[in-house]
Amino acid sequence: MHLANDRWKRKIMVSRGSFPFEIGDFKCLAVSDGSFTYAPPTFPPPAPFLFTNAPKGLLEQVLREYDLKPERWAAWRSPYICVVIDTGKHKMLVDTGAGNLGPNTGHLLMNLQAEDITPIDIDMIILTHGHPDHIGGNVDSAGNLVFPNARYVMWKSEWDFWNSELKELKIDEHVKETLRNVARHNLPPIRDQIRLVDCETEIVPGVFAVGAQGHTPGHMALIVSSKGKSLLCIADAVLHPIHVEQPAWHAVVDGSPEQIENTRRHLFNCAREKNALVLAFHFPFPGLGHIVQIGNRLRWQPI
Ligand SMILES: [Zn+2]
Repeated sequence: MHLANDRWKRKIMVSRGSFPFEIGDFKCLAVSDGSFTYAPPTFPPPAPFLFTNAPKGLLEQVLREYDLKPERWAAWRSPYICVVIDTGKHKMLVDTGAGNLGPNTGHLLMNLQAEDITPIDIDMIILTHGHPDHIGGNVDSAGNLVFPNARYVMWKSEWDFWNSELKELKIDEHVKETLRNVARHNLPPIRDQIRLVDCETEIVPGVFAVGAQGHTPGHMALIVSSKGKSLLCIADAVLHPIHVEQPAWHAVVDGSPEQIENTRRHLFNCAREKNALVLAFHFPFPGLGHIVQIGNRLRWQPI
């Protein structure tokens, strides 16, 4: 009876845009910031956008296994997911969503409010990387800090990169302009509150920063551990469940494709060794699941 109630409650919460779960003593909440549709003409169609270097024949075969018809898959609607980790001592938020970037983004605050979490409750924000959908909620349109009591953590090379002219970034000029504008609006105001890390380190007891370069120069994953249970926040090291079984296939937005396969394999091994729950920020909400081996292939198994 209790279990049934619990399931029902969780179902309601997913439809509301949040999903509570526990890692040992830590209370966690996957929170939706909304979603964004990647489609032409601004972006390539989903298959070449997500799996740029995939061999055509194998790609078509794999897509069909995932019930995706290559010729009909015209748009990729991606959730934007953040997570709150309440360690008892700290109320941490991982990423701040996209703010007002798209027509269906910027729902983070509303979804936090529905769980009685207000911006002043958050005392630490971990930014996994500097893409607009992860830092866009740092400040409001007037440039004021949205989370006034928060200290921030980011990988040092990531901070340096997004505060540069982005010369090395090989991407469509129009998209690059958006990335640059969002970074310039959302990063300088947190300059005095940020702690930059450049090696694997324990941010607060039980929350570890892990270098996960490839998607961006200083992309960061997190391992959250309490009472023998673990959560791997894999962030954007994978964008689609197919990346779990095809770790060499990279997306247009993966800035250093030569690094991403090794990073993914390292993170997958880590998840499997720890039997960790995994949170992927662009997988179907709430983005939680396990990486399992079926035959000789790894697969994503959503909870
Ligand atoms: Zn992202």
